[in-house]
Order: sequence, then structure tokens, then C-alpha cells
Amino acid sequence: MIYLDNAASTQIHEEVLDAMLPFLKEQYGNPSSIHRFGRLTEKAINKARKEISTLINASPDEILITSGGTESNNTALCGIANLNDGNHIITSSIEHEAILEPCKKLEKQGFDVTYLSVNNKGLINPDELDSEITDKTCLVTVMFANNEVGTTQPILDIAKICKNHNVPFHSDAVQAVGKIPIDVKNLGIDLLSISSHKINGPKGIGALFIRNGINIDPLILGGGQEYGLRSGTENVSGIVGFGKACSLAHQNLNANISHMKNLRDYMVSKITNEISHTTYNGHETLRTPNNAHFTFLGVNGEDLIIKLDENGIAASTGSACSVKTQKASHVLQSMGFSHEQISGSLRLTVGIFNTKEEIDSTVDILKKVVSELRSVSPFKEKYGF
Ligand SMILES: *Cc1c(COP(=O)(O)O)cnc(C)c1O
Repeated sequence: MIYLDNAASTQIHEEVLDAMLPFLKEQYGNPSSIHRFGRLTEKAINKARKEISTLINASPDEILITSGGTESNNTALCGIANLNDGNHIITSSIEHEAILEPCKKLEKQGFDVTYLSVNNKGLINPDELDSEITDKTCLVTVMFANNEVGTTQPILDIAKICKNHNVPFHSDAVQAVGKIPIDVKNLGIDLLSISSHKINGPKGIGALFIRNGINIDPLILGGGQEYGLRSGTENVSGIVGFGKACSLAHQNLNANISHMKNLRDYMVSKITNEISHTTYNGHETLRTPNNAHFTFLGVNGEDLIIKLDENGIAASTGSACSVKTQKASHVLQSMGFSHEQISGSLRLTVGIFNTKEEIDSTVDILKKVVSELRSVSPFKEKYGF
């Protein structure tokens, strides 16, 4: 199999697994215990917290460990909303469901949510953000990089606008971490969501960066772990694995970025040159180094994925989460894509373990499969395939 769905999840790094195993076997102490079993796991968590914080240039005490990107987003949104007088939130129309769904819930509770529009490349307009902020605005949340088309937002501009208005700024950086250098101090971000399994770590673990001085209302109450912001006995092996994944991502950041970008650019140029009636979607330069998103006119994306799978290639139409609900992508709709363009879309996301040979095979198979599907397409006459 050739795995080109790294935006959905990634292969665990061998070193990450090795770091985790002792904590699934002999190191089973509760980190809150006073005896040496407890002290050992507590120490392992502290080390991991340091590794996580280093990747984004935060302090360890600004890292709240969660069960993943979804929980981090929920915690940021509800945690800020519950504590504030303001009842207005600003986000973008292309966020992940883990932002949009909590927004919907807050709307039901009486919050106003403004959804910023995006252009046909998936970029928000900072001026629109500036004009939408009111004295009721208690949070701005705009994703760092989009999970379907890879577009990266003008985060520095957004953070400056929020700072001018004295409104906290949260960013869902799940797709950006490990692919783009992120320095929360330089960027002026107040809250930032990260997920382990998108950077070759284990699933079910992630973090929310919360700048010192920002208060949030805890969603989970109990024994007071995680500074009282998220109670419950820590997922020690997961945390250790996540820490290791962050440390590897930090160490290899530049090499990983150029590896992924080289493969992606090579793949994009082959596909757009060798397959007709194909568009490369999203922004040319403001995008994550691993994301490629195409529309193959006259082809149904789901059929394409099934055919690719039969031929040993794992790909996606877009977000893994919206595939099951069979909804047309809200991201592509917001970017002004027609129904036909949305239907023919395919996302290929490379990872640190992919090779050039895999890309060559993928393009060969894709050529064959697209042409098979086009030979029976209802749009055959229209495009003259
Ligand atoms: C994957 C993803 C999430 C969800 O993260 P989990 O750790 O799977 O809960 C949130 N936002 C974006 C942009 C993602 O790509």
C-alpha cells in the first residue's frame, strides 16, 4: 500500500513507539502518587511537556495536555466563552468540524458567531476580521492551515488585529505543526491546538497552548490534574509518545519540510502535466508543504478513492470526518467551487515516510484510473475525453 492520507493520520514513528512501551509495561504508576512509581511517571510527563512546548516556543506551564485536536478546540472555545461577558465569537467558514460544532452549540446558548468568508484560494481577509470585531467579541479563532486544501492563513496579521482590540486569538494548528515553523511568542497567538497523531505520534493525545495570563473555564472536573484545567489520571504512555513525536518533529523540522515539499511539488507537476482537465486547488505558495488537492473534471471523487484503494493507494476526497456524513465539503463551497468541481476532488497528502518511487507509481495508477472513470463519465461529451 502507498499511504497518501497523512492529513488524516500518520504512521507512528518507531522511536515514538519505543519511548512509549515502558509506560505500557513496567512503568504503570499513577503520576499523582508519592512513591517512586508515581514520581517516575510524573517526571516522564514533565519531560514530555517540555518537548511539546519547545516545538512551538511556549513555556511548559503553558501546555495543557488533552485527548487531541478536537478536545483542544472545544476547550479553547467553551473554556473562553464560559468565562467571558462578551457573547460574540469570530471564526472562519472553513474551520474543522471540531471548531464549527462547538460554535453551533454556543450559538444555541445565545452566542453570536461570525463566519469570515474566504477567497477562491481559501484565504480570509484580515480587513474583514478587523471590521467584524465589536466590544462584545470574546474570542477570535482562525485555523493556521486548512485540512482539506492546505491553505495557511495570515496568522501574524490576525494576531496583531486581535491584540489591537484586546481580544484573545486561538488557532487550530493541527495541520500546521511539524510542517511550518511555529513560534507562538513571535506570532502573538494566545491559544493554539495541536494533535499528536498528525505528527507521527499516537492517537488520542494532543495539547492546547494557553498563554500565561489567559484564563479558561475547565471542561472536565475531578482530581485537579493539569493545573485543575483537565482532571483525570494522565494518559502517560500517550503523553510520552506525543512528547517524543514533538521532539523528533522539532529536531527534523527543516529536513521534513523540504522532503515533503519536494515530493509534493514533484507530484503536483506530474499530475497537472500528465492528466488533462485537472486543476490544482488552494494557494500556490501559502500552503502546507505536504498538501496537494486536485479536481479531476468529469470524475466522481468517491469512485476515484475506491479505485485507488483497489490499486493500493490510500487517498481522500478531503476531510476524513465529512466523508462519513456524505456532506459536500463546506470548505470547497466557501471557496466558491461548483458542485461538479467539488465532486471531482481528491486530496493527496504526503508524509515524512513517503518516497519518490511511491509518487511515480501513484501518478501512473492515477492516470489509468482517471481515464477509466472518464471513459464512462456522463460528462464525456461535454469535455471530449
Ligand atoms: C485532525 C484535525 C483535528 C482533530 O484532531 P484530533 O486529534 O483527531 O481530535 C482538528 N483540526 C484539524 C485542522 C485537523 O486536521
